[in-house]
Amino acid sequence: MTSQVLVIGSANADLVVPADRRPGGGETVLGGDTILSPGGKGANTAVAAARLGADVALLGAVGDDPYGGLLKRSLADSGVDTAPLRTSERPTGIAYITVTPDGENSILVSPGANSGLRPEDVDLGGAEIVVLSLEIPLETVEHAVAKAAEAGVRTLLNLSPAAELSAKTLQGLDVLLVNEHEAAFLLGGEADFAELLGLGPKAAVVTLGAKGAAVVTADGVTEVPSPKVEAVDTTGAGDAFAGALATSLAKGEELAEAARWAVKVAAITVTRQGAQPSYPTASELE
Ligand code: AMP
Repeated sequence: MTSQVLVIGSANADLVVPADRRPGGGETVLGGDTILSPGGKGANTAVAAARLGADVALLGAVGDDPYGGLLKRSLADSGVDTAPLRTSERPTGIAYITVTPDGENSILVSPGANSGLRPEDVDLGGAEIVVLSLEIPLETVEHAVAKAAEAGVRTLLNLSPAAELSAKTLQGLDVLLVNEHEAAFLLGGEADFAELLGLGPKAAVVTLGAKGAAVVTADGVTEVPSPKVEAVDTTGAGDAFAGALATSLAKGEELAEAARWAVKVAAITVTRQGAQPSYPTASELE
């Protein structure tokens, strides 16, 4: 079976502990009850796309352990094809998240199985668009982009978390997706977003938090404003944006139209708690 949208990226179990303060070195702090939720940028993106009706698969890796089973089931329950998901000898990736009363998160990620996803694991199947993010080894991402470019498969890369990519990889991208920090990282500081195209991608989208997004094509930079919403939790908003953008592009929409839709989807997600639980269905958007 072939999925139209292939997400290549991470799957993590998020272990969230509320605490009055975060422990320092050599210190033990007692926190509240742990909340376990499915996460990882790749899994979040795939779930967002599936909720919106995309035919989507996740190529990633989980461990042969209870968290791995849980992540697989939750992906399948959301409608993501998990056939390309590898089972690794390494443990499932875990994000240890401490949340303090001021709402600030500190996150320690143990990538585990995600770090074991190798270039030779990349099989594009018959996908029409490949969506990548960077919680997996960079060489795997770069190999996937090269393979997709060679096969004429469209690529969308979410540069999150920010990392240096080779010029060849940037040139192989159809759409580079970044937030403002990642754009500054690539451009070496504040600069005109149009300069992103000088790095190689055919087009770029810059997410601008509450302001929405900017679409960068050879025709120039177009601002896509966000509807005004009351944001309660922005966790996973960027991943939802990526999933929505890919879903719309797979349907044949133009990039600006896809970005308008992704801004609407992401605006809904920030009004609800959590990452995956906050993602809307297509019918909710009507
Ligand atoms: P960011 O990574 O912060 O740029 O957020 C990704 C996307 O989520 C943005 O492009 C917006 O569409 C949406 N978003 C984030 N924060 C807000 C907010 N406070 N209000 C509305 N939309 C938001």
